[in-house]
Amino acid sequence: MKKLYDSIDSMTETVVSIQSELVSRPALSPDNNGTGEREKADWIIGFMRDMGISDIREYNAPDDRVPCGHRPNVAAVIPGRDTSRTFWVIAHMDVVPVGERSLWNSDPWTLHRDGDTIVGRGVEDNHQGLVSGLLAAKAILEANETPAMNFGLLMVSDEETGNDFGLQFIADNHLELFGENDLILVPDSGDPNSTQAEVAEKGMFWLKVTVNGKQCHASTPDEGLNAWWRPRPWW
Ligand SMILES: [Zn+2]
Repeated sequence: MKKLYDSIDSMTETVVSIQSELVSRPALSPDNNGTGEREKADWIIGFMRDMGISDIREYNAPDDRVPCGHRPNVAAVIPGRDTSRTFWVIAHMDVVPVGERSLWNSDPWTLHRDGDTIVGRGVEDNHQGLVSGLLAAKAILEANETPAMNFGLLMVSDEETGNDFGLQFIADNHLELFGENDLILVPDSGDPNSTQAEVAEKGMFWLKVTVNGKQCHASTPDEGLNAWWRPRPWW
């Protein structure tokens, strides 16, 4: 592990170059008047091929609102010693619009670097997730290591506008991708110390409450029994 960590620590310029390629390829959903994630996906696939990953699969979700007719989802796997399990790093390729342009001090679609700080649309959400996975894969391959289990990267579309063409599409149509004993890491939000582990984000929890009582008219509340709101003592 130390060898891998040291190797990743030395990849600062690789981070900057990957980030500048990603930032220069806006991946906006058609819901945000964009043309989707295809161009960004193609660049990532090329980068992974050059790195030496041969098992790259595409799961395209049909969407006739974008020029290529689909929203790409890309899975790449480096085989491990135990090929029955995969450690997945899942990140999303789409970004949100730039918003008020005058609030940016630099072009949102061109990576701006100021020492160790980089600025551009998507550098955090969620390029850092894509980059983390790519760097780990690069370190594993360069060290000629075989991980204990498969190492998988899953790069999805449409996270920012509902997931229908992204992870939801995978879950509905390609659940065979995941095994029961797989491990999944989703590096989306976090804190600078990497100590925050989030177990869920953007969900809905429906709770149905059945209230049993006795209905009455508002003029005679003493005749009713309201289990939701206890009668006051003077009733
Ligand atoms: Zn995100």
